[in-house]
Amino acid sequence: MANKCAICGADINLVQQQKLADGNYICRKTCQKKGMKAYFDFIHSDLGQVQDHIKQVEVGTKIFNDVFVPAIKGPKKARPKQYGTGIFVLEDQGLMALARPDYKYFIFGKYYPQACVFRLGDLRGYEPTKITKKPDGTAADQNKKYIHFSFMNTMGLCDFDYEYSGDAKKLAKDFDTIFGIQKTLGNIKNTWKSQIDATKAVVDAAKAVASGDEASYEDKGTAAAEALDVAIYGDRTELNRKADAVLSKYSI
Ligand SMILES: [Zn+2]
Repeated sequence: MANKCAICGADINLVQQQKLADGNYICRKTCQKKGMKAYFDFIHSDLGQVQDHIKQVEVGTKIFNDVFVPAIKGPKKARPKQYGTGIFVLEDQGLMALARPDYKYFIFGKYYPQACVFRLGDLRGYEPTKITKKPDGTAADQNKKYIHFSFMNTMGLCDFDYEYSGDAKKLAKDFDTIFGIQKTLGNIKNTWKSQIDATKAVVDAAKAVASGDEASYEDKGTAAAEALDVAIYGDRTELNRKADAVLSKYSI
């Protein structure tokens, strides 16, 4: 029985097809390859999510080659921080990227045919994790280590496990530093200040609710949520501003 690829319309047989959670099929040969198969879960995604991810890779690859590659080749101070072979952090631009190098092109220098670029400010989760299944549904090697990444405000690949054999604790510590999340006693003052701000905002919101002033408690509720966010995740305003300055040149 032949199906049609929901993206390119090609006729596909059982071996050539990838079934999505919504019952659509896409072709493995062309359309699945436009995504990052190692991280993106095609099995549990619907057609809309797959299309978002394909767009994310298309634009991400362009941004990576425009912004990250020149920085990689540039002066040492401006180079992105690199973790393992595929994680790049450009704090100055408020961006990070996941890129898959293709060593077939090694003679031309490292070449990155696929990349996803994220706003650093959207990064929420980066904890070490153990997984039982890979995104393609096959069993994962229990000896391998992974980091669970999650990003807010991100279409396509935004919640995934990344195989990482390096020091996950160091990577997490570096991200904490970027976000101003201080977990050591020596730096407790900043954390303390944002916790007090959050507490005040929550108290204000509670008062507004008690007073029954609807317009006021909507405002104060939002302020409380934002203050709590800063207390937990650090202040991302400046990172987002830098990232948006770069990303505004691309249609995302
Ligand atoms: Zn196709």
